[in-house]
Amino acid sequence: MSRIFNFSAGPATLPLPVLEQVQAELLDWQGSGMGVMEMSHRDKDFTSIAQACERDLREVVGIPSHYKVLFMQGGATAQFAVVPQNLLRGKASADFVVTGDWGKKAQKEAARLGGARVVASSEAQKFTTIPDRASWSLDPDAAYVHITSNETIHGVEFPDAPEVGSVPLVSDMSSSFASRPFDVSRYGLIYAGAQKNIGPAGLTLVIVREDLIGQVLPGTFAIHDYKVMADNDSMLNTPPTFPWYVCGLVFQWMKREGGLAAIGERNARKAALLYDYLDAQDFYNNPVARPYRSQMNVPFTLAAPELDAEFLKGSKAAGLIGLKGHRLLGGMRASIYNAMPEAGVAALVEFMKEFVRTKG
Ligand SMILES: *Cc1c(COP(=O)(O)O)cnc(C)c1O
Repeated sequence: MSRIFNFSAGPATLPLPVLEQVQAELLDWQGSGMGVMEMSHRDKDFTSIAQACERDLREVVGIPSHYKVLFMQGGATAQFAVVPQNLLRGKASADFVVTGDWGKKAQKEAARLGGARVVASSEAQKFTTIPDRASWSLDPDAAYVHITSNETIHGVEFPDAPEVGSVPLVSDMSSSFASRPFDVSRYGLIYAGAQKNIGPAGLTLVIVREDLIGQVLPGTFAIHDYKVMADNDSMLNTPPTFPWYVCGLVFQWMKREGGLAAIGERNARKAALLYDYLDAQDFYNNPVARPYRSQMNVPFTLAAPELDAEFLKGSKAAGLIGLKGHRLLGGMRASIYNAMPEAGVAALVEFMKEFVRTKG
């Protein structure tokens, strides 16, 4: 077997011990005589897997008991609509801080269902920064304030939860969930597609404060109603059982790694290694304002874009894949999620140095 370093933005690399455990249990999960993929979601074996997943997630992240954890489908994209369906609660509008393309999409989708005010945007700066908090024109009567904690395409990340008073803060954490310690109680709702930092595609996590649910817009489908999902332990219908199981193994792995504090320190070291190199030379450039640089997704361009194809070819030959930038930005992007080892980032920096030395 040969494993490469996979810098893809998502679906993305998973921890090797998790994949090995999946492999070992694929045909026979703990003496049950069948694999998890084949189990009924009503089976007590699967129920125990689902409950352990939630328990481990609550423990590793520190989720207070007055928050519901929902395991949904449809990705973050479905949540762009499902959040306003559940959280508008008779209010006229929600506020959106737009710091990249995902936030822009979330705002557009919400605008189909009610008011969706853009209260701050860094689009004029090509999403290379986060507008100063003092400049946001927040509505004290807004249903919620929506942010994208980490903009995956542009590589822009909120260093912390912004202060928004008593209006519930909602965050799309798809690409930064559990990448370092954070305080769930600062948020009314957090959502994240699994395929960036948590597990395989197919599962979407929603963590929501209990008092915010149960007042959906008329016409909302049961499967999109957080209260209905919570009352049915996220099993109103057949859930994505296999991704749910793998996510559970990832949460166990995170505990063994020392929890979010240790994982966050490792992520900070990885990001520093790459950004320090980017800042120490002139051939590669990352355009993002330093306080808002993402620890998870690092876009960069080459001073000679005609060498992009050669860079990608050479990096692939060196065992580094998934570095092609998003089609909106071009250039390169290195996604360095929890499961990317420090050795992977070190190998990338070595390759970048060698590429400049020989081609730059
Ligand atoms: C990937 C991503 C999305 C879209 O996720 P899907 O699961 O494909 O719907 C939304 N927001 C952010 C921040 C993302 O990184």
